[in-house]
Amino acid sequence: MTTRLLFSTFLLVSLAFAFGSSGAQAQTKGDVIGDLIKDVAVPRKKPLRVVGGAVAAKKLFGAKKDAAKLKPHSYGFYTKGCLAGAEQLEPTGPAWQAMRLSRNRNWGHPKMVALVRRLAAEAKEHDGWNGLLVGDLSQPRGGPMLSGHRSHQIGLDADVWLNPMPNRELTYNEREKISAKSMVLDRKRLNRKRWTEAHAKVLYRAANYNEVERIFVHPPIKKEMCEWATRKGFKNRGWLGKIRAYYGHHYHFHIRIRCPKGTVGCKDQKLAPRQDDCKANLAYWMGSKPWKKPGKPKKKPKKKYKRFVMQLKHLPKACRTVLNAD
Ligand SMILES: [Zn+2]
Repeated sequence: MTTRLLFSTFLLVSLAFAFGSSGAQAQTKGDVIGDLIKDVAVPRKKPLRVVGGAVAAKKLFGAKKDAAKLKPHSYGFYTKGCLAGAEQLEPTGPAWQAMRLSRNRNWGHPKMVALVRRLAAEAKEHDGWNGLLVGDLSQPRGGPMLSGHRSHQIGLDADVWLNPMPNRELTYNEREKISAKSMVLDRKRLNRKRWTEAHAKVLYRAANYNEVERIFVHPPIKKEMCEWATRKGFKNRGWLGKIRAYYGHHYHFHIRIRCPKGTVGCKDQKLAPRQDDCKANLAYWMGSKPWKKPGKPKKKPKKKYKRFVMQLKHLPKACRTVLNAD
């Protein structure tokens, strides 16, 4: 039984890694997106200015300052796709402040942006927050980024910092410089001097939104949420399944929503378990073995592999239209 449990945990972890680092290659096989150009609302008038060449897609998408003026549409998968008709989250709202404005990553699918606004407002009203500090959503047209995330490509991911928001408006420079604060002491232990009831409440709230599919948190945070639910005596623990342990998320949590209904060519991730998944999801992370770096080969390959560069040709076809639209 234990072996089986361990094995399934290992499988889950490998899957998580596949979606993370090597998601690009993993996606190619199962691509069922097909010719999506016809689904873009505005027909193409001019010939394409950019064709899939050797240019890294992150350079093309990273250079775009504005959204594609098309109907909102997420194309592809979280780690391989793009976004038409993005909406910009206001840098300062009634209950949030977007951070690192120079990155220009406060764009998302209107549904994602609406969810961030809602979560911020409700966290302020009910959960003991002044408001939320919001990290990266997506680039104006989604796509791969010059630095940082592998996901966040289709406007359906958002990072929210775990630091409390100060009760004043931060300057542009402060938003560039203030660091997010880690909520853990090490890979297994939470920093209880920083962690508060307000943190648990906002995660609980976000996980209970219907459209939210996953929330990534550092493993000790998932552990704490499991224990918190027990202390609270919650009978329904299904929402805990959406809270996924994944390293790198100790100073922010990452909200991922499902593809909006009827979005042709938007590929959902396999549903997260709808049980608490407190044991299996934590077994690997809380075990004694060091965590493997995702995508790292077990043995050094004799030949040096060329690093995979995601190009426009690897993205759904519709992403050319998104890139070239006004
Ligand atoms: Zn993220």
